[in-house]
Order: sequence, then C-alpha cells, then structure tokens
Amino acid sequence: MDLLELDRAHVWHPYGPMPGRMTPLVVESAQGVRLKLADGRELIDGMSSWWAAIHGYRVPQLDAALRDQMGRMSHVMFGGLTHEPAVRLAKTLVDITPAGLEHVFLADSGSVSVEVAIKMCLQYWRSVGRPEKTRLATWRGGYHGDTFHPMSVCDPEGGMHSLWGQVLPRQLFVGPPPAAFDQSYVDELEEAFARHASELAAVIVEPVVQGAGGMRFHDPGYLSVLRRLCSAYQILLIFDEIATGFGRTGELFAADHAGVTPDVMCVGKALTGGYLTLAAAICTPEVARGISAGEVPVLAHGPTFMGNPLACSVASASIELLLSRDWKADVGRIESALREGLAAAENRPGVRDVRVLGAIGVIQLEQDVDVSRVTQAAVEAGVWLRPFRDLIYTMPPFICTDEEVGLITKAMVGSL
Ligand code: PLP
Repeated sequence: MDLLELDRAHVWHPYGPMPGRMTPLVVESAQGVRLKLADGRELIDGMSSWWAAIHGYRVPQLDAALRDQMGRMSHVMFGGLTHEPAVRLAKTLVDITPAGLEHVFLADSGSVSVEVAIKMCLQYWRSVGRPEKTRLATWRGGYHGDTFHPMSVCDPEGGMHSLWGQVLPRQLFVGPPPAAFDQSYVDELEEAFARHASELAAVIVEPVVQGAGGMRFHDPGYLSVLRRLCSAYQILLIFDEIATGFGRTGELFAADHAGVTPDVMCVGKALTGGYLTLAAAICTPEVARGISAGEVPVLAHGPTFMGNPLACSVASASIELLLSRDWKADVGRIESALREGLAAAENRPGVRDVRVLGAIGVIQLEQDVDVSRVTQAAVEAGVWLRPFRDLIYTMPPFICTDEEVGLITKAMVGSL
C-alpha cells in the first residue's frame, strides 16, 4: 500500500472520518515559510501550522536549542525533580506576561492548559469555602479546545461540539462581543454576571480575537470591563491566549491592548515557535494561595510529559528569538500588506466582510466555503490555506516578506 492508502486506512486526522476520505497533501519537509510536498511542489504556509510557526520552519536558533538540550536529556519526570529548561522558561513567562501573573503550570497541549486553568479556579473557590461556585461563563463564538471542560465553553452553536451538549457541564453563555465598544453589551454582561455570581467560578474568554469559533475581533475595552466586573462580583477571569499570544495581534499578548491582568492566562501554540507541543496556565499569587489554603492544598494535576525539557528549551529559544527581533515592526508590516492585498476582496459578490488585525487576515463570505475547492485553488497558487465555515483566513509566519504576504492574499482573493 502506498502512503496515502495507509494514511486513509489507519490514521485519524483532525475532525476526520475513519476510514479517511480526504487526500491530504504529503509534506516531506519545510524550510523558512515554505512547505515542501512529496510531489516536489512548494507552498507558502499561510496558516503558520495553526498559529504556531511564527518564525517559520527549520529555524537555526531553535534547531540548535533542541540539539543542545538533546545532548543533556530529552525527558525526565517532573514529579520530585526539576531542571533548568523548565525553571528558565517559567521565569521568562512570568517576566513577559501581564504584571501579577507569577505561577506557571506547564501543560502538554492548549486544551490541557485550559483544563488546568479551569481546575485552578474551581479548586480556588472550593478551598476558600465557596464550593458552590463551579459554573463557568463565556461569550458566544469562542473556542477553547477539544477536551471536555474546554468543549463546554466553546460556542454551542458553532457546530464543533454540539454533539456533546447532553454530557457537557451547563455553562453560562452571553452573546458574542460586538466588534466596536457597545455600552448596552456591557450592561448585558453585567446583568448576567450579577444574576449568576453566586454560582460562577470563572469567566473564560479569548481576548481581542475569537479564533477557531469564527475569527471575530472585538474592542480591547471589553477586557477592562471584564476585569472590573469579575473583581466586583467575585468571579475569576481566565484569558485564553493560546492563539493570540506571542505577538500575533500586534501586542505581545492580546491582554496588553488593554493593560489588563487576568487571574489565570493560558498560552500555547507559538510558545515553542511551533516546534513541540507545550502550553502553560499562569496564575496570580492570590489564586495559588487560595488553592494552598484548602483541605487538599495541592493542584492535583501532573501529566507524564509535564515540563518536557526539549519543549521548554525550544520555547525559551523561540521567545528569545522573538524578543531579539523587531517583531512589532514585522507584524505591523504584515498587517499593512494584508490590508493592501485583501482590499481587492471588498465589495466582491458573496463577500460579507474583510478584516485584518496584526498578522491575521480574514475574508468572511455570505455562505460556507467549499473547503476542498478553496484549498485546491490556493494550492494551485502556491499557498497553503485551511478555510472553515464561511471563512478564508491567514495568519502567516512573522518572517514572511511583503511579496510572500502578497502571494497569500492573491491566493485568498483568487479563490473566491
Ligand atoms: N484555545 C484556543 C484559543 C485555541 O485556538 C486552541 C486551538 O486551536 C486551543 C485552545 C486548544 O489548543 P490545542 O489544540 O493545543 O489543544
């Protein structure tokens, strides 16, 4: 059997059927911003491997960090042991995330970091004598991962997890935030939080950009509103920065657009520059102290691969590389190139909206896209895109030149 037959027979793909029905492209290697296919074609990666590969592929500094760490140890259990790569990364995360976040739990995927953030909040309230505060609130249109608690705060009408409605915890949903600041929406949030405060443990949102739930952007002023309301009604605030973190929106973290510190923040994806699977839930001393004061004074969570030294080393190298570059200028340049290139989609029949923020560009259509047709058109134009629902979008690596961004936007517009 050839590779694709074996793939279809045995390998699950994200949101895929079994046996497989699609014909995935076979990637043999990747370099810079290009994926090299087994048939010799090269595609500019307009997706940064789902927000992650901000520096592109085969980055010399990241390769070196991994080689260096491999010469010491690839993995060691984290229970009862510690190591320099984990400690160094934790200190860096504390230094660069919003002031007041101090304690880092290293998780092995974004979804797990969201689970851990939720667990921290539920355990906090249990420990401080409010065990009835177990419910979560969120705004519609969000996406927080595919494990059970994260699924319960994904948009219930987004379709992704509607199958599980019966078995998921019943959370509180408020409408999606309007793009512009709207006082009547703030009033709606306040009314909902006030009414349910006694049972709410935490509010969880994706700040500024709702990603996989619909690629919507909203005014950062809502983050200050959430901070104020959560403090007033004794609800913890979780920011899920798994997609937005590490510069994507034009600030290092989306929370920085509003200067707001949540009680817990999740990061992942671009944390390792897309090299290895690693995420983190980072909390304030208040949350940690609350948990420690309880009858079970520990956070009962400890994955086998927690704090993997390879992943921690490459994450530190990726952050160092990002900060050593004028990344804001790169993201700003990409933002301008996206605006210029996607302007051609405005006023086209069937296009509902075109929007750009930082290194994120979105064409929203009136109807759902034909994914395979759009993907194929983009591939023929030498670009890798992964549209979903009514969205054709890109979040390119920060090292893309203006010309490469131009090819991506041309492929997006050309696929219409
Ligand atoms: N949260 C957000 C905002 C995400 O975009 C994602 C992934 O797309 C996740 C959580 C889940 O992360 P992972 O796929 O690493 O489990």
